Amino acid sequence: MHITNLHTHSLYCDGAATIEEMIVSAIENGFDSLGISSHGPVDEETYWNIKKDKVEEYIEEVKRLKEKYKDKIEIFLGMELDYIPGIGFSDLCLSLMKRLDYYIGSVHYLGTIKNGVRWTVDYNIQELLQGIDECFGGNIRKAVETYYQAVSEMAERYQPPIIGHLDLFNKNNKDNVLFDERETWYVEAVKKCLDTINKTSSIIEINTGGMARNNNKEQYPSTMILEMVKERNIPVMVNSDAHTADKITYKFNDMYRLVDDIGFDSLVYLTKGGWKKQKIKY
Ligand SMILES: [Zn+2]
Ligand SMILES: [Zn+2]
Repeated sequence: MHITNLHTHSLYCDGAATIEEMIVSAIENGFDSLGISSHGPVDEETYWNIKKDKVEEYIEEVKRLKEKYKDKIEIFLGMELDYIPGIGFSDLCLSLMKRLDYYIGSVHYLGTIKNGVRWTVDYNIQELLQGIDECFGGNIRKAVETYYQAVSEMAERYQPPIIGHLDLFNKNNKDNVLFDERETWYVEAVKKCLDTINKTSSIIEINTGGMARNNNKEQYPSTMILEMVKERNIPVMVNSDAHTADKITYKFNDMYRLVDDIGFDSLVYLTKGGWKKQKIKY
């Protein structure tokens, strides 16, 4: 099986290791390829996005390491780019897409709180609840539906190669404090989103980063959603959203077993010649 992970962060954004340390860890773990996907630049700089004036350095660094390790591993230059509801991808992100081997399209931001600061669904529960209060009058259902609408809109408008952590809301939904994912309105919101994704070429990633970093009990997307993904035959791949070198293969074998149990017959992976499918072996 072609072992890969296309969702990894580094010191260029909020990761804790250099790109080279991530690559060395991938080689030590027997990877065939690795994608480097720092959080792309945003207009109002944050601690977790790459700084605009570091973008060129980042691209050069990945290209240098791609060459340095070319006999040991295939390196792909990527980024995780923010799709902002009501705005879309920034012009800078749109221009970067053309220079990258691939990108992950993710929705983190959902609105702006009264002090003008954009809030994200994956920061912490206090910030999330403040955002839902100020932007959605405390209506959690409306916030979640808006999130899935934004993911659908992103897929429809841009067909990102990979859609990041599809049910990111679950990060703050431990013990169903926000909603129960079996509620009809929730299932319907997800279905609508998956039906849109199904009309595009986008791949849905199975992301173990929430389990690695926040003790989420499940991967993104949840097993319930993955069963819905399988029904539609939307292509999937396994990524770990690694922010440290030791989490590069986090729970990969469990995920291979899970997709096999759900009935997927293949996982996709990236090659120089484009996306390919492979049988699942673990
Ligand atoms: Zn993300
Ligand atoms: Zn990420």
